Amino acid sequence: PVGPVLPVLGEGVRVPLAAGGEVEYAALDYAASAPALRSVWADVAEFAPLYASVHRGAGHLSQRATDLFERGRAEVAAFLGCRAADRVVFTRSTTDSLNLLATALPAGTRVFVFETEHHAALLPWRRHQVTFLAAPRSPGAAVRTAGEALASAPAGVPKLLCVTGASNVTGELWPVRELAAVAHRHGARVVLDAAQLVPHRPVDIAALGVDWVAFSGHKLYAPFGTGVLAGRADWLDEAEPYLAGGGATRVVARGTAGGVEVEWARGAARHEAGSPNVIGVRAVASACGALAGAGYEALAEHEERLLGVLREGLAAVPAVRELSLFGPDAPRVAVLSFTVAGWDGAAFARALSERYGIGVRAGLFCAQPLARLLLGETAGVGGGGGGNAGAEGCGGPSQAVRVSFGAGTPEEHVRRLVRAV
Ligand code: PMP
Repeated sequence: PVGPVLPVLGEGVRVPLAAGGEVEYAALDYAASAPALRSVWADVAEFAPLYASVHRGAGHLSQRATDLFERGRAEVAAFLGCRAADRVVFTRSTTDSLNLLATALPAGTRVFVFETEHHAALLPWRRHQVTFLAAPRSPGAAVRTAGEALASAPAGVPKLLCVTGASNVTGELWPVRELAAVAHRHGARVVLDAAQLVPHRPVDIAALGVDWVAFSGHKLYAPFGTGVLAGRADWLDEAEPYLAGGGATRVVARGTAGGVEVEWARGAARHEAGSPNVIGVRAVASACGALAGAGYEALAEHEERLLGVLREGLAAVPAVRELSLFGPDAPRVAVLSFTVAGWDGAAFARALSERYGIGVRAGLFCAQPLARLLLGETAGVGGGGGGNAGAEGCGGPSQAVRVSFGAGTPEEHVRRLVRAV
């Protein structure tokens, strides 16, 4: 068995089994939150004694922290292949980044989004006119569906297409470059939800041709609390600040007719009011550097091999059905959901934890329209057998089981899961 590509925290953590004894924990829920890289933790520990408030203090450590914070921004920009004029705004998460962008859309913007998206990409646009695009059954159909919808939208109004890079339910890769090209042909802009893509594949904003990219640090081997929205400056600079407060302002003065008048900052600061998460930004920058340094090729090769072990193992179990939108041969990252006949996903995931020390996720994965669509297609596979607690009585399981892994996953964890299934 081959070990991990990059060392992560949590290796060797032992957990109790229901039957007694204990076992090394197998963390197979990277798509929810990946363990932090040891190198990220070491960088944070080195910085921790020196941190101080940024952009405000005159002291030596404040200046140094400001320098490191802004260097983090430049490092993330380089990691994402940002264009010179692009902004890199630090947020709390992908959810936060997409909500920020939603508040920055010009009045009258038409938003186009596939109904298959994660709720974080599906729901922030509701104050605008949104067209929900039907689930496509191939990458080509996704491009055609988006093209047709955009073509029938009125000319002369701002348009935004929101797309995912890789599905958090099926792991399937979406044709981002092609979607960006078709969107631009119809005068629309594109935001990429890269939450599940950037942990597995390089994301180059210029090469993909997208206008904005959003992702979360905690899925990219950094701890919780920091997200990124990177991309075109114009809409961001013209919008009302996402948060009103200190740091987002240039001048605040008493108004001539009473009250206060505000001149807001331009640039990333406009949307980063309040004291920023300096440690979180250093952690994300460190994770970006580690991944770029190790090379995505090595990571993708490792994941591809383990995915092969997983899929071959699951294919030998007749009760197991993989969930897929684009078909079994579609390229995907190391995220895979499946159902097991006679089992509800939640009960199955609990059994994996209690009997085998394996951590996976069960449910609808915050992408309920997609998960329900795919689970509906497995209806009738279930039935028979016990352990189907929580099924919704439609003949199929109400929840799927999701396995996801990455840089810190040894082959033994995947083999243990296959044996357990
Ligand atoms: N988009 C996708 C595809 C995701 O998988 C997730 C997290 N599951 C999000 C967005 C939201 O990320 P966060 O919870 O970090 O805001």
